[in-house]
Amino acid sequence: MATIFSQIVEGEIPARVVYEDETTMAFLDANPLAPGHTLVIPKDEYERLNDVPDDLATDLYATLQKVIPAVEEAVDAPASNVAFNNGEAAGQEVPHVHGHIIPRFDGDGGNPIHAIAGSPPNLDDDELDDIAERISANSRT
Ligand code: 5GP
Repeated sequence: MATIFSQIVEGEIPARVVYEDETTMAFLDANPLAPGHTLVIPKDEYERLNDVPDDLATDLYATLQKVIPAVEEAVDAPASNVAFNNGEAAGQEVPHVHGHIIPRFDGDGGNPIHAIAGSPPNLDDDELDDIAERISANSRT
């Protein structure tokens, strides 16, 4: 079953599309957290960022670079948070990769990305070394 975002790509459900090219699309979030809250997607369906093939990942990043300043300028925002919920446990509800561009304003009462996670862990040096080693080994495979 196609994701709701694939249905937007196919024009089967309406959206306020703000950018489109051969492989990517951007449209306003239906439940904006700020004026101009925009989602950027690859047109093809991949659940997670790390599932996206290299060429398409390049296109997706290029579209983000194009759309971020366009969004900020449109709503006169001096900054934005750009983030992907990557997997269900991280809050991803639509299983089709999408980057959120959330415009931010001075004194808007929001938080930096550091506020996303639950209680920060207390990790000692050995644990940090161990985690770093495992990530490093996994990154090479
Ligand atoms: P997630 O939690 O998966 O990262 O975010 C999904 C986002 O998609 C939410 O911010 C939600 O408001 C938005 N969304 C869900 N359904 C629709 C839709 O049909 N149209 C649009 N434009 N946005 C949607």
